[in-house]
Amino acid sequence: MTIKSVRGTHDLLPESVQLWQRIEASARRLFELYGYAEVRTPIFEQTELFARTIGSDSDIVQKEMYTFSDSKGKSISLRPEGTAPVMRANLEHGLYHDGGIHKLYYIGPMFRHERPQKGRYRQFHQVGAEVLGSDHPALEAEVIDMLDRFLEELGATGLRLLVNSVGCPTCRPGYVKLLREELSKRQDDLCPQCQRRSETNPLRVLDCKVPACQPVIDELPSILEHLCENCRQHFESFRAYLGHHKIHYEVVPRLVRGLDYYVGTTFEMVSSKLGPTQNAVVGGGRYDGLSQLLGGPPVQGFGFALGIERLVVLLEETQDSQLPRPDIFLAYLDEQALEESLQLAQELRRQEIFAYIDFQGRSLKAQMRLANRLNSRFTCIIGEEERKSGEFPLKRMEDGHQVTLKRKAIASYVRGNHGPTR
Ligand code: AMP
Repeated sequence: MTIKSVRGTHDLLPESVQLWQRIEASARRLFELYGYAEVRTPIFEQTELFARTIGSDSDIVQKEMYTFSDSKGKSISLRPEGTAPVMRANLEHGLYHDGGIHKLYYIGPMFRHERPQKGRYRQFHQVGAEVLGSDHPALEAEVIDMLDRFLEELGATGLRLLVNSVGCPTCRPGYVKLLREELSKRQDDLCPQCQRRSETNPLRVLDCKVPACQPVIDELPSILEHLCENCRQHFESFRAYLGHHKIHYEVVPRLVRGLDYYVGTTFEMVSSKLGPTQNAVVGGGRYDGLSQLLGGPPVQGFGFALGIERLVVLLEETQDSQLPRPDIFLAYLDEQALEESLQLAQELRRQEIFAYIDFQGRSLKAQMRLANRLNSRFTCIIGEEERKSGEFPLKRMEDGHQVTLKRKAIASYVRGNHGPTR
């Protein structure tokens, strides 16, 4: 039996890699315009990093982490998300010592042992950005503006921005207490998981997708009516800055996010094209409490993570996936002509021209058929005459137009005929 990839993982074949490269290139270009620099952290960390920050009650820590012991018996986990590692790196390398703002982004794989389904994998990929060292609501709106530009540039449409505030250690405990009281009256109407969460982490009930729980959730008190003055003003100001950027949003009081370290502003971007459950493309918010959970000083932080697989689903409808198209197909008649073609290809590639040669011993006719299939822009047939004269016939495939050129003139002619190729 042949060996297959592990359930919940997927290969990216060349046809789809192009779109991924475009997403990654856009992220790098655009995020850098907003002052972000890339950070790369390891894909595994001490388990404690996630246990402490994500919360031992969370699904991620309880059942979704890929955890193993190394040879010294240390508990190690594949990273399920990128924010805690970025904060760990910030503390470990003392980036915060300069008292400035640090804008960081990352692109890479994350691992969660979830039940695989469309848009949900066990190895998936995120583009994320974190800004450390400020709690200014204008900065939050700037992050969302950056995301908006990014998605627009890629051609992702129909996304809705949902925003909320989850309060802070001053106002949230009172709200959670109220929530617990309300939920205790409705236990019989809740799914078993929510019955448990009503006690352990009632905020997470708001996040439940089980249909039976929805009528109960709809009637629960809104956190927005229980914010302290600081949180209320912050949220209002954040909304005003979104308005300055002309960004549309919806306030959704039940949007709480699953992770414990979020405070204040929280948001998601969702698309109905992804179906009813795994519809979030981006999730983010403020996590001013995270640094202290890791034993560090107070460090303000705001950021998001975007799931690349889900973004790809949105973009695939509008894209033709294509392999790179050769600039020139060098067809050869015999062994000596092959040597000539190899040399010419080498010269052309050094000048950034994609030159293609067949290595399957095809006849000239079959080589030309291949050139057509690959959609090559030009073809050049090389035989004894061309070898001796040093002049080569180039045919533009689009219209059959033909010219004869000295070898030195080929690269600039090909380039000049269609501009930069990739
Ligand atoms: P989270 O870290 O849970 O807030 O997730 C942020 C984003 O990552 C989500 O909005 C999704 O786009 C993506 N994501 C999270 N979990 C998965 C998964 N298991 N498979 C694919 N994408 C995911």
